Amino acid sequence: MMRREQATQAEPVYPKIRMFIAGEWTEGGSDRSEKILNPATGQPIGETPYASRGDLDRAIMAAQEGFEIWRKVSAFDRYRTMRKAADLIRSRAAGIALIMTLEQGKPLTESSAESLLAADIIDWLSEEGRRAYGRIVPARFGNVVQLVTKEPVGPVAAFTPWNFPINQAVRKISASLAAGCSIIVKGPEETPARCMALVRSFADAGLPAGVINLVFGVPSEVSDYLIRHPIIRKVSFTGSTVVGKHLAALAGAHMKRTTMELGGHAPAIVFPDADVEKAARILSANKFRNAGQVCVSPTRFLVHDSIYEDFVKRFVAEASAIKVGNGLERDSRMGPLANSRRVDAMETLVADALDCGAQLRIGGKRIGNTGYFFEPTVLTDVPPQARIMNEEPFGPVAPIARFKTYDEVVAEANRLPYGLAAYAYTRSAATMAAIGADLQCGMVSINHHGLGLPEVPFGGTKESGFGSEGGLEAIEGYLDTKFVSQAS
Ligand code: NAD
Repeated sequence: MMRREQATQAEPVYPKIRMFIAGEWTEGGSDRSEKILNPATGQPIGETPYASRGDLDRAIMAAQEGFEIWRKVSAFDRYRTMRKAADLIRSRAAGIALIMTLEQGKPLTESSAESLLAADIIDWLSEEGRRAYGRIVPARFGNVVQLVTKEPVGPVAAFTPWNFPINQAVRKISASLAAGCSIIVKGPEETPARCMALVRSFADAGLPAGVINLVFGVPSEVSDYLIRHPIIRKVSFTGSTVVGKHLAALAGAHMKRTTMELGGHAPAIVFPDADVEKAARILSANKFRNAGQVCVSPTRFLVHDSIYEDFVKRFVAEASAIKVGNGLERDSRMGPLANSRRVDAMETLVADALDCGAQLRIGGKRIGNTGYFFEPTVLTDVPPQARIMNEEPFGPVAPIARFKTYDEVVAEANRLPYGLAAYAYTRSAATMAAIGADLQCGMVSINHHGLGLPEVPFGGTKESGFGSEGGLEAIEGYLDTKFVSQAS
């Protein structure tokens, strides 16, 4: 593993950050703002303006007016506008990626992939909007017609995080718009530019004013104000479980619909009959993607005793080969962590694991004192009481532990309150079927990494939240069901 200091790509010009309210770009009326730091250098690159109370009120009124317009636009015309936005994103993808890497840190290849996937998500959900069918229920009496219809739930408040500046927002925006809802997005203050680029693509595609609004601010203040407001009918949040519980409780107190995409701590089980080389290669690529700041990242490696050393050797070799560097360098495979909080968290988790008796096989410390780089780290024989076996690491530290029996590993995999993603590697069809059924989580991927595509469900169970952000289920969270019974 090596770290390179110089960017080969000239540093792109970071755009001025603005909010988007009632169809206009604005710096808002607040005198508060937040510095945006390049995580590869720790240097300021811009400033995120905060919304004032007046800005939030304008966004809410705009969302109400936008909703009245957009709900009456036919599903076909909504689809056409959304498809235009998707094509704009595709045509702008290279520029979008450069700025995403500058503000978030991930390598350019990952930023490009995120932009292109965002366009695919818009396409998929725009098409689902055209298939938001109702039904006719056969009536008991001849003169009665019983209709079940689907209606947009109303103006949505969405809160999106910094790890995927576009993709966390695009799932909420696309589901809202496809259903006929308007939306206020409270974007990520630390990585605001790409959320802005996403919203700009919808505005440029011709979305009526007020249908989409983008604000920034102190997250707790903005969410508290928006969620309580009677005009907001639906809340969608992606972030940590602790914040999700707080927002879900607030939404519940005001009887608002919610979609909660929260933290995870995905077990990755390698059975004795697995293709060990393939498991080590795919799991390490996905563990260290986005420097481990991915909610569905494989994070608790549970490996059968009989293949343990073989797996560890291969996994460590894969981790050692990762080039860590500024994401703007074409050959960087892992960038910095997105902020200094994550570096502190990695140091704490590694120290705790070593105190608990784990062995450090590679990495374990921050790199240099410029930016927020941390070494790809592998810990082995990590006991279950270590914090990293209980808390979502959200960083490039991989804890590996052994197991001996199927029942033991299923119990360990299901031990935590999280239930987002899980992975398993085995050549046995019987084990595949059993493990797919026995794991308590929303998504299971066996012998490959197959999660997160637009057309498949994406969401968790237990304390990882509820509702789906993918597949045909994604739009359901933004639709009310209405029953109409008419007699002639
Ligand atoms: P954090 O818990 O303070 O914030 C997580 C996210 O929630 C941020 O985007 C933040 O802006 C938002 N947030 C926080 N309080 C909020 C509130 N009261 N109302 C609305 N939004 C609020 O911590 P952090 O340091 O930013 O992130 C660390 C942890 O968050 C990670 O360990 C991870 O568990 C979780 N996280 C998860 C995802 C995900 O994809 N599920 C994304 C980012 C962060």
